[in-house]
Amino acid sequence: MQKDYLDTNIEFLKGVGTQRADLLKKELNIYSFKDLLQFYPYRYVDKTKFYKVKEVISDQAFVQLRGKISNVQLQGEKRKQRCVATFTDDTGKLELIWFQGAKWISESLRTQLSNEFVVFGKPSEFNGKFNIAHPEIDIVSDENTTLARSLQAVYNSTEHLKLRAGLDSKGIAKLIRPLLSAPNFRVEETLSADIISRYQMLSKAEAVKQIHFPQNAEMLRKTEFRLKFEELFFIQLKLLKQKGLRDTTTKGYVFSTVGDYFNNFYANHLPFQLTNAQKRVIKEIRIDMGSGRQMNRLLQGDVGSGKTLVALLNMLIAMDNGFQTCLMAPTEILANQHYQTITELLYGQNIVVGILTGSKKTKHRRVLHEQLQSGEMHILIGTHALLEDEVQFKNLGLVVIDEQHRFGVAQRAKMWAKNIQPPHVLIMSATPIPRTLAMTLYGDLDVSTIDEMPPGRKAIQTVHRFDTHRDRVFGFMREQIALGRQIYVVYPLIKESETMDYKDLMDGYESIVRAFPMPKYNVSIVHGKMKADAKDYEMQRFVKGETNIMVATTVIEVGVNVPNASVMVIESAERFGLSQLHQLRGRVGRGVEQSYCILMTSFKLSAEGRLRMDTMVRTNDGFEIAEVDLKLRGPGDMAGTTQSGVLDLAIADLAKDSQILYAARNIASELLSEDINLMKPENAAIAKQYNRSIGSETNWSRIS
Ligand code: ADP
Ligand code: MG
Repeated sequence: MQKDYLDTNIEFLKGVGTQRADLLKKELNIYSFKDLLQFYPYRYVDKTKFYKVKEVISDQAFVQLRGKISNVQLQGEKRKQRCVATFTDDTGKLELIWFQGAKWISESLRTQLSNEFVVFGKPSEFNGKFNIAHPEIDIVSDENTTLARSLQAVYNSTEHLKLRAGLDSKGIAKLIRPLLSAPNFRVEETLSADIISRYQMLSKAEAVKQIHFPQNAEMLRKTEFRLKFEELFFIQLKLLKQKGLRDTTTKGYVFSTVGDYFNNFYANHLPFQLTNAQKRVIKEIRIDMGSGRQMNRLLQGDVGSGKTLVALLNMLIAMDNGFQTCLMAPTEILANQHYQTITELLYGQNIVVGILTGSKKTKHRRVLHEQLQSGEMHILIGTHALLEDEVQFKNLGLVVIDEQHRFGVAQRAKMWAKNIQPPHVLIMSATPIPRTLAMTLYGDLDVSTIDEMPPGRKAIQTVHRFDTHRDRVFGFMREQIALGRQIYVVYPLIKESETMDYKDLMDGYESIVRAFPMPKYNVSIVHGKMKADAKDYEMQRFVKGETNIMVATTVIEVGVNVPNASVMVIESAERFGLSQLHQLRGRVGRGVEQSYCILMTSFKLSAEGRLRMDTMVRTNDGFEIAEVDLKLRGPGDMAGTTQSGVLDLAIADLAKDSQILYAARNIASELLSEDINLMKPENAAIAKQYNRSIGSETNWSRIS
């Protein structure tokens, strides 16, 4: 294929050269002309408005003023000289200050004092007077004043680029402007005429110009819409195309009957009435597994919404159709817990359930492998160990994966290979994520959502307490223990400061043991540095009610189920993200008793930290919390979204652009339903861009 002009190495752009190019590559990932064009401004300063001096208030972002400059002075010692001048308009005056290049500025200003100036900068207040440090100044002339009346792009730059290459925001703009008018410059349209006219969109070429040099606010809005739509559209197109192709080409085992395993369990062993939401999703899954397509489905539901039971009922359906099933959990503790729950639920029903985790001995494995291959074992529960090649089933029909975000796509693929046709895959996620994020991250999956909690649960009461009130918190803990309840106390464990965190954990543990002495109280501790069996032993003591308090790091974050535990104390809660706090809180409130979550923080809290605490105190709704989390942290940093390149969006914002996303997904879906292979001539532009976007993904050369 002919190389596009815009693919030219950035080195060859006028004004760049090898040195700057190296820095642009290293610092901003800008390798080609195209990369530079796609290096979008992160904000715009409004130079459409002129302020008056008397309108200036402190903390104002930027102001643009128009007036005269007088009284230019050099002040201070020789090496630390600054230039100070007075700016005056018809409403008042303020000071302009330059700390760098003071001498040169004072000299050049003095020769131009007869002119009128446009001054632009960030005002600050000092001794009751306003000043602007290092303002941009321009002499009022016809040319400058029109230039000034626009929205001006501001680009992110880095210290290195500024100091070593002179490429601050303005410097970057200076590279882009001539590129846009270069003779060979040409931007191909990437969307179809139909889509463009439907939304009255700007052309791609126009949008690329306007994003860097917007004509006015209205144009900028249209430009952003166009570029955001395009970005989201191609992500959705890819996801939906994959899904569409898979649905048509990958055959799935057909589970046509609901038989004895299911019916017997449902009639005689179901521990409680299913919620309507549980019934609905079980049906969605059942229909999917009977359709002849291979199922790839995400089961979303807040902590405690009862996903395990849903999974189990569908596993029984698989067994009714002569298939084996497995359930994979991210940690050993969780796998054991699932094993226990499920063996208890299936007790006396002639169902063979096995467990496989990393710590299992060879002998155990040998027996297990045999049972799997002979078909004697119906259900296998375990950790990553299930992925090992030796683990071979006679006839695996359904794979349930708990807490999907810890498993990569490659691991999912391994599961696919465990039968002649790929088994059905059900992925359970207890990390509620906003719809926009789900569509982007799991857009190639079908989604079932449990949006209702089992009845009779009392909402968890959440409070925020400062460390200074620890004695009172201990008092409350004693009361709860006296009522027969158990308590979790959780400490953060952030990788970078592991040693410190362990010290905090051990100090905390000691102070709790002191405050809750034996023999009246028993305290457990579990953390990641313990051996698996030691962890397990401690966990079991707590599960059995032999200990009153469980001091732990976040290893208990996912899935652990001790209904009698009714208090969750989270230490240094400000160090946790929202979704993690919500996950932790979900460990309590699983029984019939009123449960509590106590968020302990130091007195010093950032504004964001405070918002996180307030959000937790205000609501128990995981989806609502996820929305706030998305706004605060952006998609890339939310729990459950690591390792997903799709979230490095150049311009769209999943927290804000939900409407654009829905539109993009609908259009993509509509288009694919008529033209799954993008062969129609009217979709040629889309097909071309699609292939480019697919191609660029396998281009790892950039990652050094
Ligand atoms: P999660 O969705 O977080 O995995 P679990 O499956 O662990 O939730 O269920 C949480 C708790 O709720 C368990 O103790 C389970 O037995 C209980 N539970 C599940 N479904 C129901 C229901 N329909 N009615 C009452 N309790 C239920
Ligand atoms: Mg669970």
